[in-house]
Amino acid sequence: MAVPQISFVEVGPRDGLQNEKTLVSTADKLRLIQKAIDAGARRIEVTSFVNPKRVPQMADAEEVCGGLPQHDDVTFIGLVMNAKGAERAIATGRITQLGAVAVATDKFAIANQGQTSSESVVAAMGIIRQAQDAGLTGQATIGAAFGCPFEGEVAEDHVVAMAAKLAEANPVEVALADTIGVGNPAQVARLVRRVAAAIAPLPVRVHFHNTRNTGLANVWAAIEAGASVVDASLGGLGGCPFAPGAAGNVPSEDVVYMLERAGISTGMDLDKLVSASRWLSEIMERKLPGMVAQAPRFPAERQGD
Ligand code: ZN
Repeated sequence: MAVPQISFVEVGPRDGLQNEKTLVSTADKLRLIQKAIDAGARRIEVTSFVNPKRVPQMADAEEVCGGLPQHDDVTFIGLVMNAKGAERAIATGRITQLGAVAVATDKFAIANQGQTSSESVVAAMGIIRQAQDAGLTGQATIGAAFGCPFEGEVAEDHVVAMAAKLAEANPVEVALADTIGVGNPAQVARLVRRVAAAIAPLPVRVHFHNTRNTGLANVWAAIEAGASVVDASLGGLGGCPFAPGAAGNVPSEDVVYMLERAGISTGMDLDKLVSASRWLSEIMERKLPGMVAQAPRFPAERQGD
């Protein structure tokens, strides 16, 4: 049974932008963050603290944090891969939650962060504890949970065991990420149910890329199976520099349209998301994958206006 409301996480400023060749200015990143806040986002992944040589788009992480607006009710998430990244994020004084990533397969974990899958779990737990020691919160994401670009099929038992282990560090939630967009709704429902049972009472967050156009179906299947937190990226921007062929995240405005029309509250304002997506398309100088921003408004008139 689907939950009546979900918690929405805008990941466009980090996951959306990190694979874009065009370097986006710090000022435009801050405009994007402000537009997400104006549209209702209360959790935003604003940047990542990684080696700028590997991810040039994130080289201005400290500058972005320095320009973040004052919003006590908004959680600003910084993605970090190791203790050094966590120190950088904490030192900004503006990041309120650290995002740690553990990867489901050895080959991808080595490509992504130079460690095995089990080493990545230990590292992620260390990052979560580092966050907690600094008075922040931590969250954990299991990358390549539904399939690996190097190893192919991923054993569900392994993902469930990883989630249970990560839960021991008491993150705010554990996420299942379809980093390369290969998952299908039946698989998603099965794995979300198993992970939800393994980490209860912690929530399950889901993170889907739309490489094979199964993203929205997977969001729906995940929510029906008990996931209560959904990552999405404005316009459907996104990819992964270390995952060959990975496409963008599920588009925020498409996810919000689908869920709100289906009676599941997201806390987001669709009209504001649509105009933010159109603005982002101008900034990126291309059409973005999201479809709702390209379609006529439905219903045509805003109710109550
Ligand atoms: Zn992603």
